[in-house]
Amino acid sequence: METRTLGRTGLEVGVVGLGVEHLNVSRENMDSVFDLGVSAGLNYVDLLYNDPVDSHADHWDAIAPALRRHRDSLVLALHWGLVDHEPIDRCRRCFDRALELLGNGYAEIGMMTMIDSEKTWTGWAQKSIEQLKTYQQEGRVGFIGLSNHNLEVARTAVESGLIDVLMFPVNLYQHPDDEARAALLETCADHGVGVVAMKPYYGGRLIETEGRPSGITPVQCLHYVLSQPLATAVAGPQHTNHLNAALGYVHASDGEREHGSLTEDLTDRLRGQCLECDHCLPCPEGIPISVVVVSTNYLDYYSGTTMSVKFNRDFYSAIPVKASACTECGVCEDRCPFGVEIIAKMHRAVELFETA
Ligand code: SF4
Ligand code: SF4
Repeated sequence: METRTLGRTGLEVGVVGLGVEHLNVSRENMDSVFDLGVSAGLNYVDLLYNDPVDSHADHWDAIAPALRRHRDSLVLALHWGLVDHEPIDRCRRCFDRALELLGNGYAEIGMMTMIDSEKTWTGWAQKSIEQLKTYQQEGRVGFIGLSNHNLEVARTAVESGLIDVLMFPVNLYQHPDDEARAALLETCADHGVGVVAMKPYYGGRLIETEGRPSGITPVQCLHYVLSQPLATAVAGPQHTNHLNAALGYVHASDGEREHGSLTEDLTDRLRGQCLECDHCLPCPEGIPISVVVVSTNYLDYYSGTTMSVKFNRDFYSAIPVKASACTECGVCEDRCPFGVEIIAKMHRAVELFETA
């Protein structure tokens, strides 16, 4: 597999990386996925689930033996905190236990999770960076990274000189024609910050529409992403079949990789899916429609593990106005340019998230 240098870290990483969010949680599955990936040259692994002490203990029980077995071949990004940005002491306890489970007590990258607001960057993230610098001094962490979905906060972090790695969504839908996104990648290059692309399939939506193949392949998605100035793209497989589809990129022909023709009719191909444009808002009841629709689809079509289901349920429970507030007025469906059946999605969300 082609390798690229991850910015100023100097780490050489395979262009196809692995995200663990959706991996089916069993020893057999983890062993098979890592055996397949490592034999193909995959080495960059993003370890999202940060809590082996409690919430993610099952995941760590399943994945840790495979990580230890392949430890010398891997570049590991171990997450510090999750979406709730837990108290620093709690992060330390989880991080210490995860480092032990890796076998050599070391992670190449300590990755702060979802720093998506200015407040989180100036508050929790700064305290976290102090802690991660201590780990660096102790030789337990190599570099500091940050995952993010917000352009402005990402730019601030990159320009601060405090992070070495940025994990950011790059894909065929969100990236093209967006000058600010392209500029962010250039800023990362100027500052020597290595870029890891997340959501190369736009959360699965580029390759499946409501559970049906869209006609767009993982190879085309990855080729688009890897044509950008970045180091690696983390696919999020559930099992070896999915990983095989991503690894197909490595030996794919130019014809199989070609994606230029997709841009012309991309929105037609994705019709019926929520693309988070928010043209349907405002909802008179105050429902954050795209958040509800995306959470519902995530559970119905893309999520493969009890861990990711819990992650999504926790996320939904924090939504201030939930799908059950829907009066079926229909104004959102009239406004949606992508033909999403929003009212049906509200019903499904109530079934999935609000029915005991
Ligand atoms: S208008 Fe349609 S596609 Fe856009 S956010 Fe609303 S439901 Fe999603
Ligand atoms: S149909 Fe439901 S979700 Fe859509 S605008 Fe009306 S109340 Fe909001």
